Amino acid sequence: MSESDNWFMQELEARGVSRREFVGFCSAMAAVLALPRTAAETIAAEVQVAEKPVLVWLEFQDCAGNSESFLRASRPTAADIVLDTLSVDYHETIMAAAGHQAEEALAATVKERPGGYIAVVEGSIPTGENGAYCTIGGRSALQIAREVCGNAAATVAIGTCATFGGLPAAAPNPTGALGVADAVPGVKNLINLSACPANVENLTALVVYYLTFKRWPPLDAWRRPLFAYGKSIHDNCERRAHFDAGQYVEAWGDEAHRTGYCLFKKGCKGPVTFQNCPNVRWNEGTNWPIGCGHPCIGCAEPDFWDKMTPFYAHLQGVPGFGVASSVDKVGFWATVGVGAAFAAHGFMSLGRRWWYSEHHPAARERAEEAQRRADDEQKGGQP
Ligand code: SF4
Ligand code: SF4
Repeated sequence: MSESDNWFMQELEARGVSRREFVGFCSAMAAVLALPRTAAETIAAEVQVAEKPVLVWLEFQDCAGNSESFLRASRPTAADIVLDTLSVDYHETIMAAAGHQAEEALAATVKERPGGYIAVVEGSIPTGENGAYCTIGGRSALQIAREVCGNAAATVAIGTCATFGGLPAAAPNPTGALGVADAVPGVKNLINLSACPANVENLTALVVYYLTFKRWPPLDAWRRPLFAYGKSIHDNCERRAHFDAGQYVEAWGDEAHRTGYCLFKKGCKGPVTFQNCPNVRWNEGTNWPIGCGHPCIGCAEPDFWDKMTPFYAHLQGVPGFGVASSVDKVGFWATVGVGAAFAAHGFMSLGRRWWYSEHHPAARERAEEAQRRADDEQKGGQP
């Protein structure tokens, strides 16, 4: 097929995106997906001939932040065109149809394409009072999710509300809000993209992976893609050297804050939060919270409104981090030398595992199982 016959290339041209930018995008996607650079060529070849997957986007108890992330009002980029390869049959916030017409479009997709569409769920699903806290077209979110996700080829729970319940599920959880995994147990091919909101780069990378390899990427214990959630914020943080050197921000706006020291004492939850924010960043890679001087609040983790608050108090219950003086001690020993810095890293990993086993009783077992699975897949030669 010549480039002039290819709708994707024509679309790039019509929107003023050069071939060079598209190649750059494919290389960037290979990097986000933690694939070798050579995978960029495969991505470029597959994405431009891929068939449009059909998408149904459900919104339940949410703030529409993930829809905003998906739509992002910036200049057209290759990423926008890749997202446009999704045929969005139903998205109640952005579709032109409304009322009965919209509900009929949803019913038609579910009926006519069983197992032939991808369901995206944004927002938590309230289960209290028989689902009465969120109804659309006279049906509860729970009924809709069971039907739509139950017939989908795969379900992507986008944002922390859809993955873990998020803010609506914070104690005392008056609506009985749950994430998809708990509200619709056993749903086929569930992929969680947690965070508040989920980063559109990770959604794009997920779509690119699917279009390129015709399957879904390896997942962690919370069913999140390892390419985006395989490492902690702390592992890749640009302030990490200051943590290891025992250099912490003590007060907002102090010299240490202005110099870019570690935010652990100001409440940073980076050591127990897993996402690729330090690498992918936000707003097309412009910056990210810690880069701006704000601690990570752990938005990608289960129960973060209950377990990560107060946001500006440092983590409790991690051995060695219960009181500020212990933080100083870790910093002191870390400054002794490179060996000590490695020891501090090992100590942090140990502490992190302990924190998880204490705060999320099932998590450690599931994390270890996922790690075993990831190791096996690695040995089996992932692309
Ligand atoms: S505690 Fe936070 S600011 Fe400090 S190195 Fe870790 S992730 Fe970065
Ligand atoms: S830095 Fe932390 S709180 Fe901020 S978006 Fe990333 S995971 Fe969420």
